Amino acid sequence: MSISSLDPKQVAVVPPECTTAALDSSVPIRALRRQTTGAFTLFHLLIPVAFLPWFFSWAGVASVVWGNYLFGSVGICLCYHRILTHGSVKLPKWLEYTFAIFGICSLQDSPAHWVAIHRLHHKHSDHDDDPHSPRKSLFWSHVGWLLTKRTDHGYHRSEVIQRYAPDLMSQRFYQFVEKGNVWVWIFVTHAALFFLAGFLMGWSQTGNLVAATKTGTGAFLWGVVMRVVVTWHFTWSVNSLAHVWGYRNYETRDDSRNNWLVALVTWGEGWHNNHHADQRSAAHGHRWWEIDLTYTTIRILKAFGLARDIVEPRSAKPGS
Ligand SMILES: [Zn+2]
Ligand SMILES: [Zn+2]
Repeated sequence: MSISSLDPKQVAVVPPECTTAALDSSVPIRALRRQTTGAFTLFHLLIPVAFLPWFFSWAGVASVVWGNYLFGSVGICLCYHRILTHGSVKLPKWLEYTFAIFGICSLQDSPAHWVAIHRLHHKHSDHDDDPHSPRKSLFWSHVGWLLTKRTDHGYHRSEVIQRYAPDLMSQRFYQFVEKGNVWVWIFVTHAALFFLAGFLMGWSQTGNLVAATKTGTGAFLWGVVMRVVVTWHFTWSVNSLAHVWGYRNYETRDDSRNNWLVALVTWGEGWHNNHHADQRSAAHGHRWWEIDLTYTTIRILKAFGLARDIVEPRSAKPGS
């Protein structure tokens, strides 16, 4: 197996119109983001409730799996990450916006803020201004960074977005979902639809209000709460585990690793050393056995004429 070294200039990810000024990293880790911490706490407290016999169902378990693919792989891995952050592939705008709404339904912040923070991560990977490097601590890289205001380096959210995601904020759709926290209401609406779908199903089967409410609550707890929490931890494991454990195909200037377990649960995002070495590549698996199901989705979209300008890996695939 050969180890490849890539020129970091050739894998630049931050759009040229972004300022290169470093953000102030002197803000102490103190103030909690109250809304984020509140949502994080509430969703985790609801997990044991989902296992109560009243609400548990195998259909609910199945909704975690297909929901993780639809809202996690398609919404976050494909749309937020590969399309919006890195421009690895282009879709028709109507489809891109649809997939962005799927991403919003994963409750991982708005598209513009997610993209801005991830570009910050690539710009400063495992150095002082990296928002979530495990060099601080594994807990910090997994979730600690999300719960404090330190991530934005003391800058207002809109300023970080303007600096690092100006290409998104020049588009009306992303402006719309950002302003007035419309993205939060999109999430709330989709959660209500899960409850309503379960309620109507229960009503049609029993005609009983209590039974229908129970089925609706079960659909909400599994189809939304459990799926969101599972997808959170899978996504966050890319920031934490895939910067600590695994092997490296490339000598990058960060600690990124290829972690097969993370790759398995994140539909290919765990081939993270490959991704840091060649950030624009639509394929994160660079060897034949580095399975990347998000890239498979891209190939399927291409077969249907819905994906174009797919960026292929720049380097020879080591060991492939
Ligand atoms: Zn990384
Ligand atoms: Zn990335």
